[in-house]
Amino acid sequence: MNVLILGAGQLARMMSLASKPLNITVRAYDVGSKTVVDPLNSAISYGDLNAGIEFADTITAEFEHISHDVLAQCEASGKLKPSSQAIKTGGDRRLEKALLTKANAANAKHQIIESKADFDQALQTLALPLILKSALEGYDGKGQWRLKDLSQADDIWADIEAFFQGSKSSVKQAVIAEQMVPFDREVSLVGMRDVNGNTKVYPLTENHHTDGVLTVSVALNDNEALQTQAQQIFDSIANALGYVGVLAIEFFQVGDQLLVNEIAPRVHNSGHWTQQGADTCQFENHIRAVCGLPLGSGELVRPTAMINILGEDSIPNAILDIPSVSLHWYGKTKRAGRKMGHINLSATTNQALFERLEKVAMLLPEQAFSDIQQYARSLA
Ligand code: ATP
Ligand code: MG
Ligand code: MG
Repeated sequence: MNVLILGAGQLARMMSLASKPLNITVRAYDVGSKTVVDPLNSAISYGDLNAGIEFADTITAEFEHISHDVLAQCEASGKLKPSSQAIKTGGDRRLEKALLTKANAANAKHQIIESKADFDQALQTLALPLILKSALEGYDGKGQWRLKDLSQADDIWADIEAFFQGSKSSVKQAVIAEQMVPFDREVSLVGMRDVNGNTKVYPLTENHHTDGVLTVSVALNDNEALQTQAQQIFDSIANALGYVGVLAIEFFQVGDQLLVNEIAPRVHNSGHWTQQGADTCQFENHIRAVCGLPLGSGELVRPTAMINILGEDSIPNAILDIPSVSLHWYGKTKRAGRKMGHINLSATTNQALFERLEKVAMLLPEQAFSDIQQYARSLA
């Protein structure tokens, strides 16, 4: 089998690595250079999108912000999984909110803003503080404004208006105003749905962010009720989309209730731990699903956590001297804040995992990892 992935970043790379043992060959379409490349070596080129579509038995995506022309061209070949509608829904917060309504999934009170009148109305009907998010092209906390006090309203509106005017998208831009959720913590569920509609999920993951970017995920194996609640939401969302592949759902946990923050129609950073902590990792399961193969189990095999490496291209080798630690580099050029790699670590009990997480964190250079160190200390 041959798979073409739209997007040629680390997620395509890890899907390629997971595909080799199954005799599945992966190529990736780099949306920047508009060429098909080897996801493990972007210097190797295989021609344009048409050549990639020709090569592929199945086409899928590693991120949701793919131009609609490219999606339409892939869908016309009959090979695209999940559907272009599912991918677009992950890339447009208006469609995403409509999906949550359809799937009856609880989420923050919100309003769509396309004009000053909408903005003024949101200030009247929603309770402050608000978070305003661009409908299109938002990721890693980019394209967001926080409005705590009415005195900020004029400045924020001026910013949003400039943002609308600067938009190069062929789709009309908008902003979603959401009430800030006073959450206890953020968790996510990564799961998968096969071509016959069967679903499986991984354990919920607790996610820690640093400056709006995910930095640590810890698999949770101690809350059955929460897991069941998340799985039900997963099933209703995945079924509503007729989804095929791995799908991630980010939640806010408030008491024992889960509110959906957003979805990602792809493998997800909060599922990287599955490479060492689950029976079948998310990368293999996504490939299995889109190739029409049976899904592997998402069962946790041992307590596992992940640390993101942001903006650094080396870490002390002593980390590899700690048992059950594995290091995954993405082969990218160093840039401030860029996702360069991740560390997975496992242990036999949760407590041993937390202690190991602290040990690993303390070996990382303090300057870049101080927030992670603090979080690890709070768990241990
Ligand atoms: P990602 O990289 O996860 O795709 P994103 O840019 O799509 O990020 P969100 O996940 O929507 O952004 O928001 C980023 C972070 O901002 C969230 O993880 C959460 O910490 C905070 N946040 C977003 N919406 C809300 C909300 N309604 N209430 C409280 N906090 C929020
Ligand atoms: Mg997002
Ligand atoms: Mg998010």
